[in-house]
Amino acid sequence: QAPSRILWQKAPCRFCGVGCSVLVGTQGNRVVATQADPKSPVNQGRTCVKGYFLPKIMYGDDRLQQPLLRMKDGKFHKQGDLTPVSWDTAFDVMASKWKKALKDKGPNGVGMFGSGQWTIWEGYAAVKMMKAGFRSNNIEPNARHCMASAVVGFLRAFGIDEPMGCYDDFEHADVFVLWGSNAAEMHPVLWQRMADRKLSHPQTEFHVLSTFEHRSFDMADNAMVMKPQSDLVILNYIANYLIEHDAVDQDFIKEHCNFTKAAEDIGYGLRPDHPLEKAAANPGDGSMSPIDFEAYATLMSEYTLEKAHQMSGVPKAQLESLAKAYADPDTKVMSLWCMGINQHVRGVWANNAIYNLHLLTGKICQPGNSPFSLTGQPSACGTAREVGTFAHRLPADMLVANDKHRALAEEIWQLPEGTINPKPGPHAVLQNRMLKDGETNVYWVQCNNNMQAGPNTNEEALPGYLNPDNFIVVSDPYPTVTAMVADLVLPTAMWVEKEGGTGNAERRTHFWHQMVTAPGGSRSDLWQVMEFCKRFTADEVWPPELLAKAPQYQGKTLYEVLFANEQVDRFPREQCLSPLNDESDHFGYYVQKGLFEEYARFGRGHAHDLDDFDNYHTNRGKRWPVVDGKETRWRYTNSDDPYASAAVDFYGKGDGKALIIANPYEPPVESPDEEYDLWLTTGRVLEHWHTATMTGRVPELKQAYPNAKVYMHANDAKARGLTHGDEIIVTSRRGEVRSRVATKGRNRCPEGLVFMAFFDASQLVNKLLIDATDPLSKETDFKKCAVNVRKV
Ligand code: SF4
Repeated sequence: QAPSRILWQKAPCRFCGVGCSVLVGTQGNRVVATQADPKSPVNQGRTCVKGYFLPKIMYGDDRLQQPLLRMKDGKFHKQGDLTPVSWDTAFDVMASKWKKALKDKGPNGVGMFGSGQWTIWEGYAAVKMMKAGFRSNNIEPNARHCMASAVVGFLRAFGIDEPMGCYDDFEHADVFVLWGSNAAEMHPVLWQRMADRKLSHPQTEFHVLSTFEHRSFDMADNAMVMKPQSDLVILNYIANYLIEHDAVDQDFIKEHCNFTKAAEDIGYGLRPDHPLEKAAANPGDGSMSPIDFEAYATLMSEYTLEKAHQMSGVPKAQLESLAKAYADPDTKVMSLWCMGINQHVRGVWANNAIYNLHLLTGKICQPGNSPFSLTGQPSACGTAREVGTFAHRLPADMLVANDKHRALAEEIWQLPEGTINPKPGPHAVLQNRMLKDGETNVYWVQCNNNMQAGPNTNEEALPGYLNPDNFIVVSDPYPTVTAMVADLVLPTAMWVEKEGGTGNAERRTHFWHQMVTAPGGSRSDLWQVMEFCKRFTADEVWPPELLAKAPQYQGKTLYEVLFANEQVDRFPREQCLSPLNDESDHFGYYVQKGLFEEYARFGRGHAHDLDDFDNYHTNRGKRWPVVDGKETRWRYTNSDDPYASAAVDFYGKGDGKALIIANPYEPPVESPDEEYDLWLTTGRVLEHWHTATMTGRVPELKQAYPNAKVYMHANDAKARGLTHGDEIIVTSRRGEVRSRVATKGRNRCPEGLVFMAFFDASQLVNKLLIDATDPLSKETDFKKCAVNVRKV
């Protein structure tokens, strides 16, 4: 029999926030190949090595295909073995636990942890289930650990989330400044675009700052290794340099900026009784008071070149060279950052300090002049941020605490007034603490491997999962570290096994169709959420006084209230353009379209306009706001953005002006001392996506980078009697991990600092980390803690 022909369709890559488009080749019911999409404006016919091996992520030998419940003697038992059960049994047990937790503990008794790897409608449906169905704001995305500081930085400075620029800036910039970013490994295709710029315009400058030398240093004209946390000092020094050297664009700041000063001491987000927590002594509230330019200049004046040099360790000439790049009126500067700035106990301040430089010089909202916050996950923007998966948010930047926003959400969701809880739920770190303390009793994790990727897992995460009063559900395609300590594991359809849509770092929304069916009994996260909602009636979960306002929902299931209404469930399946009409993921009607169109109502007319659902299937994505079918490349400028009423109009703020915020230096929460004498910083590697649950199933990628190692300076190794490759134990105040030392290879650490990646499930480095957070964004500092290293 002749093999069927290969059918090629477009989809965004499954992995990172760059959002490359690939062509996916299917034959029969199997993905057999992918290739870079030559029509993609993002990757322009290229992918990185992860994108090259995309088909193999779906076919690991240990792919989960049936729900697994911990059972003993034929029934659920916390100490039982994971045992295959039907979906009905899985949901019945789960629902009984859920109902008990709601009854015993109220809305925060149930919790959910999602991800920037959810598709747009998966995240949206989860938000709707939790915030409308269960009236609980106890839902968070892992973007809290990743992008939360970027979000708060945007909202503080501009009043609206996400970058004003776009990837087109790469082809216009004269100078690239990488603030803690290793784009060569973490955003490889964007790195290729930067390299192209350098090759075609050799005068292009690269300034690269980090706490250790990594691959992005290979292209640096000005390579700067700085001491941890000293980015705050360097940024303020540059602001001071601009002021002292008359490089401030006075016309721009008069017309487009206000100045403020932030409260200075607002703690480290640890438990209040933690010995390193300062909030109890001097809580502060992060509030801001207006100041003028002169007052701002005075506050910055203490950040001299000498001080920046002393505190950062960067030679003065290199700091000056960096400052001159921002000061030069004839150069276009693109600043880029990601986790190095965001995962920081003062990540919000660091984000704002970067915007300050661009605002002071007017180098913003023009092609090539662009402060650009990179994202980690494929839909960190499109899902985690935009559909409202944070505990305090609703779709399109709206807030649960805002009366008007809740009223709008209740109107769009056809809910009685007062359904949505006005109190923000607990943030991600607090969720773990509440599970440990028994305040939350059931927790559903989707698209996440929190037990490997979260902070301080031994002390604060694992105890909550093992708490005998708790019931933990994990949805995943593979048996991850997190799934293996869950009480119920639900097998999940992945990537092109379902209809999907994501939003990348440049505000680009991009869709794909389901191309193959998921193996065995695997089902999409969307299907799981909607099916689970069939187990509850509104009468069971809503108080009588609320139900009295909406008698039409009496006796109706949450599924009927939230998803089977005429607004969501209105597109007959013939409208699904997918070549597959698989019952498992379209479930009768084309609800993905209904959910998306409902969600889009939040943003249309509010500067978050999205295009029509079907249009996204005909192109490689569009950057919002999309008005009359036209995307927006540069926001806040009327040459491109339909919402801007002037050449520059920061319309996110009521007066159209952006905020320049004076923030001081604040020391790290934990620094090396006699007992723990080294800095530990963590991160990712090119070959693996986050915790390698997918890339670890690709033999070529696994072989290319099989195990994590601890990069260390040769002098530090020698002082401990170590040579390259020796087995070591790394210890912090919170735990220890075995690894091997590397004194050579792709990273070069300065004396006093070690780097270790977190992809390796056999070396759970995150249990060493302190769960300190930025008090404004509640984002964890994964980049700094104190450890010691000894030979095994
Ligand atoms: Fe592009 Fe990122 Fe996928 Fe690599 S991992 S192909 S850079 S989206």
